[in-house]
Amino acid sequence: MRIATVLRNDDFTREVCRQLREKLLRPGSPFRFVEHPDEEPDMVLSIGGDGTLLEAVHQYGFEPAYVGIHTGHLGFYADWHPDELDSFVEVLMAENKPYLAEYPIVQCQIHTRDGQTYDKWALNELVIRNNSLSTLVACVYINGDEFETFRGDGLIVSSPSGSTAYNKAVNGALVHPSIEAIQLSEIASINNQAYRTVNSSLVLPCHHEVEIIVMNPEIMIGLDREQAVWQDVRSITCRVGSRKVKFARYKKMTFWSRVRKSFITG
Ligand code: NAP
Repeated sequence: MRIATVLRNDDFTREVCRQLREKLLRPGSPFRFVEHPDEEPDMVLSIGGDGTLLEAVHQYGFEPAYVGIHTGHLGFYADWHPDELDSFVEVLMAENKPYLAEYPIVQCQIHTRDGQTYDKWALNELVIRNNSLSTLVACVYINGDEFETFRGDGLIVSSPSGSTAYNKAVNGALVHPSIEAIQLSEIASINNQAYRTVNSSLVLPCHHEVEIIVMNPEIMIGLDREQAVWQDVRSITCRVGSRKVKFARYKKMTFWSRVRKSFITG
């Protein structure tokens, strides 16, 4: 089995990785560590936080299965604590097939005014904001029908697994990752006598499409960890992606128990 690692940049994380490699590379080991996506790893170990996992997924794509070891607090994408390295090595050595949890992504197309189209995707979310303190103005269409004109700080289109991230901070709903859906949430919309939005998050099923027609000449677009300023964007369309990110689950931990541990009991 070819294994790649993606690490958070701190000494503790590097030490956890060193120990894990040592445990996995005993004589006769079936494991080989690879360093580059071209070497097509079967598994990618993300050691760090959920942010590290996002980085890993954008680096290695949809083919490998991902496993997260959290070297900070419990994560939404990471199952293993650094104290559990021996148990983790044991289940890997046992060659039992893990349960593969497949998480939907947000698939986006960014259309610029000069006719170019850029295909992008996000495991957590796409974020659109104006590139200044003035409001973002955008017309929202759902499946080709006009829905609303948004004025405010920004819009988030999140996946189910991203629903616990930025989306949650703007009071979006938490969506179980087995549901193939995207969620459109508002960041500080203006709602007064002149301007009106639905002011609730919308959960759209698979095959529905949200189109956001941008009025501002310059906007900021965030896709998971990556953010960039874009000029002359005409519109952005989002739907549930046809590909999913695979997580190798060697131990049972439900999504709702993660929600409880992360947000209620700690
Ligand atoms: P960051 O600003 O350093 O960290 C953002 C926090 O979000 C971290 O605590 C991260 O967990 C956590 N996180 C990431 N994905 C999550 C998920 N699916 N569910 C619950 N929590 C999650 O940024 P980053 O580490 O590069 O992560 C990028 C993400 O930050 C974006 O995708 C966005 O969702 C989130 N973000 C949130 C807000 C907000 O809540 N107001 C604002 C901007 C961006 P770890 O500590 O385990 O890495």
